[in-house]
Amino acid sequence: MTGITVLGSTGSIGVNTLDVIAQHPEQYRAVALTANQNVERLFEQCVVHRPDYAVMSDVAAAEQLQQKIQKAGLNIEVLAGATGLEKVAVLPQCDQVMAAIVGAAGLLPTLAAAQAGKRVLLANKEALVMSGRLFMDAVHEHGAELLPIDSEHNAIFQCMPESKGGRFNGFEDGGIEQILLTGSGGPFRTVDPAELVNVTPDQACAHPNWVMGRKISVDSATMMNKGLELIEACWLFAVPPEKIQIVVHPQSIIHSMVEYIDGSVLAQMGSPDMRIPIAHSMAWPQRMSSGVERLNLFDVARLDFERPDDVRFPCLRLARTVAEQGGTAAAILNAANEIAVEAFLDETLGFMDISRVIEETLADVSAQAAASLEIVLQADAAAREVAQSHIVRLKIK
Ligand code: NAD
Ligand code: MG
Repeated sequence: MTGITVLGSTGSIGVNTLDVIAQHPEQYRAVALTANQNVERLFEQCVVHRPDYAVMSDVAAAEQLQQKIQKAGLNIEVLAGATGLEKVAVLPQCDQVMAAIVGAAGLLPTLAAAQAGKRVLLANKEALVMSGRLFMDAVHEHGAELLPIDSEHNAIFQCMPESKGGRFNGFEDGGIEQILLTGSGGPFRTVDPAELVNVTPDQACAHPNWVMGRKISVDSATMMNKGLELIEACWLFAVPPEKIQIVVHPQSIIHSMVEYIDGSVLAQMGSPDMRIPIAHSMAWPQRMSSGVERLNLFDVARLDFERPDDVRFPCLRLARTVAEQGGTAAAILNAANEIAVEAFLDETLGFMDISRVIEETLADVSAQAAASLEIVLQADAAAREVAQSHIVRLKIK
């Protein structure tokens, strides 16, 4: 029996993970579930999955959950806050940790899982973007396995030469020319740029192909998601940014490709459903069913490809610059983006000002070598403060 801790179980990735676990009850068991504030949903998940632990980041919410669990007579230990998250990431009965908390809040428990030598199923790209080298060093040093859940990185992983124990040593000796990182272009790929000034959070979150949490949905609309994924791929596959070409592919059927020096291009395809990379990463190096509908190429009929538009999507340019720069620059970009997206979702910042806030924050907070976790967390905090001040200045109401 493989025990899985699902960090962020009430979110989009968390719910899909529990769906896959429930399809294989003889092989997998959720040993811990965690959520930020959603007591109702975490309680429902506890009733169905009977984990050993349930964690609420919010202390008041943890008390509410505790009462419900007690009333229902469930034998589940309820924990609260960051210490609770870190504890369930390293439990002895946990073999795999699904890192599906959104944003920087996921960094510490995900890192703890790597340091405990677990198999880390990494959806929380922000954690890797922030801590890059430190995170990869922890994985290697403690013999953890890092399996990418992000559909593009999972596709790249599948198209790579035989990986060694979940580590990505393929690039140098694998005869690889470049990575082709695909992205749908989001909901605003063809919208008149003049109209983008007034788009609402609901319009930005209406992704054409994927159903996801609101933060990543906005990131897809600005294409910062692809920018974060570029940085994520650099770390996962130990490649410089110039070896990664972003390819806009509106149908989201090819999830990414690897081009080899002999001209071969390998692609991984499938329906846009996150249960595929989740099941792949849980079962790797074996395969197991995911419950996803079979891809019907006759229904798909055609696949299109376009060059990314850096003018329409300035976040792509910012992320590439940061990827080249290294150090704490990516943590600064990530923090400014989180703050700006939050303000956009609260309707206090315009859509086109998201990239402005990030660019201005990058200009104001100087990057340095990411020599320790403390330095990374300081850069994150400083960037949040500066980004907030720019938002106040640009505020729409
Ligand atoms: P979501 O908003 O649906 O869920 C986020 C989860 O994190 C929830 O369980 C929530 O309770 C928890 N959470 C939020 N803030 C927290 C905090 N401060 N402390 C502790 N827990 C907190 O998000 P999602 O779409 O499931 O995305 C999760 C992660 O996976 C993100 O990093 C995203 O970029 C990545 N990802 C998602 C998809 C997708 O299809 N949804 C695809 C690729 C990568
Ligand atoms: Mg992705």
